[in-house]
Formats: sequence, structure tokens, C-alpha cells
Amino acid sequence: MSDNFDSLYEEIIRDHYKNPQHKKPLEHIPFVQNPSCGDKVRVAITLGPDGTIAEAAFDGSGCSISMSSADVLADLLAGKTPQEAKAMVELFLAVLRGEKDPSELEQLGDAMAFQGLVRLPVRLKCAALSWRAALEQIEKLL
Ligand code: ZN
Repeated sequence: MSDNFDSLYEEIIRDHYKNPQHKKPLEHIPFVQNPSCGDKVRVAITLGPDGTIAEAAFDGSGCSISMSSADVLADLLAGKTPQEAKAMVELFLAVLRGEKDPSELEQLGDAMAFQGLVRLPVRLKCAALSWRAALEQIEKLL
């Protein structure tokens, strides 16, 4: 991977951190926490009348990786069925665990920006946090 790719990815992560489109105050949903970094996040998923996800939103606090990852996730889930959403979240988590090739993230839009983290194990938990929170919510919808 070239340095140009890395800086493109950094730019995507920075944009989602500074200008999140899907961050709003939520209630009645427990936070999922990452004690090693102090991140906490919760994710709300709302189905529309056609059974696809009308809106995904998050709130919480933490480092730029955890917060930008949550915004990327929320972007991606809108319009998907719960089954599609579950498959996407599981793919992302499998890449972070090293079970799938990082290039698989190219199917997941801006989530590809996190593929460089596979080389930075301490940040993996930050990136995975909101996706784990989303998976809990998606499983309630299946
Ligand atoms: Zn973090």
C-alpha cells in the first residue's frame, strides 16, 4: 500500500470524525465500551415500513477512530435489510480479527479506510466498537 492510499484513508477518517452525519442524542440503549481507550458508543437502528433500515444513528464519545468508524457504519446501514446489515458488520469484524483479507473492505464504502488498522492492533478495538454495538441491535431485528 502506498503512502498516498494511507493519507486518503486518514482524510476519510478525519472527515467522519469532524463532520459526523449520523451522531445524535439517543436514549434507552446501553453504551458499549472500550476500556483500553475510554471509548463508549451506542447505536440505534430504525426500520422503515418496507423492512429496510430507515436510519442508523450513534452517540458516544471517544477517539477519532471509534467515532469516525461509527459514522461510517451508520452511513452504510441505511437502506439495507437487517440480514444485509448483519452480513456487512460481520465482514468488517472478521477483517479486523484477521480472518478475512483487508481488501474485502472495498465492498463496504468508506469502511475501507480502516483497513490500515489491521497493522495497528491497539486501534482495532476502537474501530470495532460501534460495529459490535450495531450487531447487538441488528440481531433484535432479525
Ligand atoms: Zn479509541
